[in-house]
Amino acid sequence: MELDAKIPDGPLAEKWDRHRFELKLVNPANKRKHRVIVVGTGLAGASAAATMAELGYLVDCFCFQDSPRRAHSIAAQGGINAAKNYQNDGDSIFRLFYDTVKGGDFRSREANVYRLAQVSLNIIDQCVAQGVPFAREYGGHLANRSFGGAQVSRTFYARGQTGQQLLLGAYQALEKQIGAGTVRMYPRHEMLDLVLIDGKARGIVTRDLVSGQLDCRAADAVVLATGGYSNAFYLSTNAKGCNVTAIWRAFRRGAGFANPCFTQIHPTSIPPAGDHQSKLTLMSESLRNDGRIWVPQKKGDTRPANQISEAERDYYLERIYPSFGNLAPRDISSRRAKEAVDEGKGVGPSGIGVYLDFRDPIKRLGRQVIADRYGNLFDMYQNITGENPYEVPMRIYPAPHYTMGGLWVDYNLMSTIPGLHIIGEANFSDHGANRLGASALMQGLADGYFIIPLTIGDYLARERPEPVDTDHPEFAAVEGQVRKRLTSLLEVDGTRSVREFHRELGSILWEYCGMERSEAGLRKALDRIPALREEYWNDVRVPGSAADLNQSLEYAGRVADFMEFAELMCMDALDRDESCGAHFRVEHQTTEGEAKRNDEEFAYTAVWEYAGSDNAPELHKEPLTFDNVPLSQRSYK
Ligand SMILES: Cc1cc2nc3c(=O)[nH]c(=O)nc-3n(C[C@H](O)[C@H](O)[C@H](O)COP(=O)(O)OP(=O)(O)OC[C@H]3O[C@@H](n4cnc5c(N)ncnc54)[C@H](O)[C@@H]3O)c2cc1C
Repeated sequence: MELDAKIPDGPLAEKWDRHRFELKLVNPANKRKHRVIVVGTGLAGASAAATMAELGYLVDCFCFQDSPRRAHSIAAQGGINAAKNYQNDGDSIFRLFYDTVKGGDFRSREANVYRLAQVSLNIIDQCVAQGVPFAREYGGHLANRSFGGAQVSRTFYARGQTGQQLLLGAYQALEKQIGAGTVRMYPRHEMLDLVLIDGKARGIVTRDLVSGQLDCRAADAVVLATGGYSNAFYLSTNAKGCNVTAIWRAFRRGAGFANPCFTQIHPTSIPPAGDHQSKLTLMSESLRNDGRIWVPQKKGDTRPANQISEAERDYYLERIYPSFGNLAPRDISSRRAKEAVDEGKGVGPSGIGVYLDFRDPIKRLGRQVIADRYGNLFDMYQNITGENPYEVPMRIYPAPHYTMGGLWVDYNLMSTIPGLHIIGEANFSDHGANRLGASALMQGLADGYFIIPLTIGDYLARERPEPVDTDHPEFAAVEGQVRKRLTSLLEVDGTRSVREFHRELGSILWEYCGMERSEAGLRKALDRIPALREEYWNDVRVPGSAADLNQSLEYAGRVADFMEFAELMCMDALDRDESCGAHFRVEHQTTEGEAKRNDEEFAYTAVWEYAGSDNAPELHKEPLTFDNVPLSQRSYK
């Protein structure tokens, strides 16, 4: 597998402009001769499909929800970063670039991150032009707040519904193209495999989730915008449908999988309430702008929060990280919360939780200001816990949330399979080993609105793909494999539900490949996962048939892929014998308990190549160089 990142030459700040000039163009009249498949209608997919169609390409767009605007992006709450410097607080493109490289603990590609920071400016203009109702100051300027890992306010937001409002903007643009006939939209269709012809991505096989029918779709290029895989952990803040299937199937067809073990645990989720819970709910990081995180000083202190005096409280983030305080990055804040709970200082009925307290900001600013800023999040919290966060502190605890790993892409967002492009959370992205808050929406929209529409043209102009249609025998062959797999799942006819298996897989991952990892634990996981997978294929019970709507079958296919993928995640975590960002190997920590990198040996992106179901995947390395942000131990003190 060759890993040519195709990073343009020249000074950092000029690379993207230069590259844009050097990209080959497709003549406007020729664009309508090219069909592109886009799988996914979240912020990345919807913006890409709409923009490519606006440029003149013909687009086939797929999602498994009943409407494109139900993609998981709609759940994003807190905001989107951009280096506009509206606050005049010292922000700049370089500072956003710097914060992102540092926040990712030096495991991302400088050139990509710089481009992301540059494009962030255009995203806000684009969204405002579409009518996205960002919060505004009294004078009309767009308002900003702060997110973790930054000392400036650069996060644009629409109350606690930023993802929803941004997605409505992208969705309207998509609908316009659907109306114009340039996008053919296929909701409730799941991509179950990728079709390669002569080594290039030329189509997909989909299942109509209502009728059960399998179909082949051909195109000149394929774009996957299928989101992240945190649901491998079973409990996560993601929508229940989020899964790894599309990118895992592409991996099995030859696309390199980068840094699968880089998964982000978010510090501010509502703690789990019991064994039967199927999902966790995020309380946005934006709450850390005003809320103060604390635990009782004394172990096992079960008194109600309002009976614990100021002197008996430990505002541990403010104490340990005085410069960043409650806005320390997610990986660090999560680990500190776990540490407090492990020490026996956890709060709430289970003792698994820390407080996020608004008593002081309410006193300082008044209840109305807090309600204006976070009202819908407070309502959500109250609906779920029955506690009123205006009166008692919220209880929060870390939860699986975002995946920095994903399919490897070059600077043009193309995977190791020619013609297969990956955007949004599905690619290994620009966030290194830890994503900063409000940077996922930025990356998804940068990819979709501003990067892929140009780089796909370059691919098509250089490649000039031969016409193919679904009569090509490769389509029938892949469709046959998909059908066989569905039938095999139904034929197991075992005794245990898919959910039971998923929950067990999730608990293995959480215990051994979650917030903390160790060699011994990862080896245990690598022992247990193949055994669980074998049991799955011998004892899973999938009712119904493949010939109509069957949500158990959909779920069974996704969990079957998680079962394979989980092993790769643990292999990657074992191979990376260092700590960096969210990947915390207990063997490697500083005297202060922070992640200790080993740049000599591990300053690379790990890219795994599928080598068949009976062989271990092969590891390739893309070396990372840091010419503009000097490698250093991160400090948020
Ligand atoms: C609760 C929550 C809050 C968040 N808040 C923020 C925030 O405030 N700021 C921020 O920057 N980030 C936030 N994030 C992260 C951010 O929301 C996501 O990273 C981002 O929305 C992902 O967008 P996407 O377009 O890549 O994928 P998604 O929005 O996940 O879309 C995936 C799409 O792919 C489709 N799909 C997937 N697989 C298949 C398949 N096999 N066949 C067909 N279709 C398929 C789905 O139908 C869907 O349309 C948050 C995440 C969570 C969980």
